Amino acid sequence: MRCVKCKKTATVMLPNMCCCRPCFFEIAEKRVRAEIRQNHLLEKNDKILLFDDGSNEASVSKTLLQSILGRMPYTLDIRKQKYHPDKNITGSWSKVVVPWCAEYEGEALLSSVTGDQPEKRLGHYMSGKKQIVKLLLPLSKAEIDTYAELCGKHTKSKQLTNPLSCFLSAIIKENPEVSFSLLKSAREIRGLRRR
Ligand SMILES: [Zn+2]
Repeated sequence: MRCVKCKKTATVMLPNMCCCRPCFFEIAEKRVRAEIRQNHLLEKNDKILLFDDGSNEASVSKTLLQSILGRMPYTLDIRKQKYHPDKNITGSWSKVVVPWCAEYEGEALLSSVTGDQPEKRLGHYMSGKKQIVKLLLPLSKAEIDTYAELCGKHTKSKQLTNPLSCFLSAIIKENPEVSFSLLKSAREIRGLRRR
């Protein structure tokens, strides 16, 4: 099997693509960079708070954040706990990075349709004066787990308990493109509602 990008031997096998290790890192980072650019998520002198719940989403968020910000001036604080959207975050942070993935956004979309979760929390939303940044929104869970594994930071992927998540996860395992179609729908619905 050849890498989709450089045609060298592929070593990273994902349901949606096969590639070599350097290209995998490049593709993942490029997608996250595009998400940041299109949504104006990060800027110079940002004061960032990252929620680290011990998941692969959190550790990959941290790695990519540091790589993308590079030498830009910023501060990064890490709070070792789960992010609760209902809890108010006090402090002077301008951006709050939460562990996320494409599948979670699909769940959020379906939950907003059933009324279980407010749709204002779709995408990157404001919580008071703080911008909530779902840094890994354009990456699938499988891609994030692979990323963490290749960095030697892999922890056991969290078991899904929400029936909706289990349902989605089973479909996505067989048809990985579903998570991206859901993501696209979430963006479109958000765009229509905010007009
Ligand atoms: Zn390659």
